[in-house]
Amino acid sequence: MAISQPWNIVFTIGFVVYVTTRGKFATLTKHNQPINRRVGLHDRALLAGMVVTSLLFPVIYLLTPLFSFADYKLPVWVHSGGVVLMVFGLWLFWRSHVDLGLNWSATLETRRGHELVRHGVYRRVRHPMYAAIWLFSLAQALLLDNWLAGWAVVMTFCVMYFVRLPNEEAMMLSTFGKAYEDYMSETGRLFPFAK
Ligand code: SAH
Repeated sequence: MAISQPWNIVFTIGFVVYVTTRGKFATLTKHNQPINRRVGLHDRALLAGMVVTSLLFPVIYLLTPLFSFADYKLPVWVHSGGVVLMVFGLWLFWRSHVDLGLNWSATLETRRGHELVRHGVYRRVRHPMYAAIWLFSLAQALLLDNWLAGWAVVMTFCVMYFVRLPNEEAMMLSTFGKAYEDYMSETGRLFPFAK
């Protein structure tokens, strides 16, 4: 089974940390009362696509031979790069969840009592959690030597990121007005100083 390969074991550890982090904060925010929701059919489809490619595909690859037709072999230095991206991605994922606190949601919405977060990893970057998901998805592609289990999530997240971002920023602008406009002028999307 693929899960017994050393790089796949490393990925599995990161994967468990990633899923546990998300689970912990999903529980924390479960009593939030949404007041403004922007969830269209394409959001649901993209979220479902993320569940399939980021959760289901790695599990199928690691525990069954079903995806073996799409296997390939990457060199050790590529896998090592994947570990670096994964560790940084997991740290950023955790930090952005801690900083957003109750203001996090899986879908686009604002809650009763929503606060604009501008501290911690949100001080210079508006979308550190998406930066973390980019990093983790790329790590998945560099660590799992399989086209489906590795790269499908990168493509799904790429579409999700570019579809969601303008909607999310429009929602934040309509909720927080000038405060979010100022925040946008002081921050980059994924990188500090890169508007
Ligand atoms: N785009 C952010 C947050 C992702 S979670 C990131 O990548 O870090 C998505 C939810 O976070 C959205 O529904 C929105 O309500 C909320 N959100 C996004 N930016 C926020 C901010 N600066 N302060 C408070 N809530 C925010």
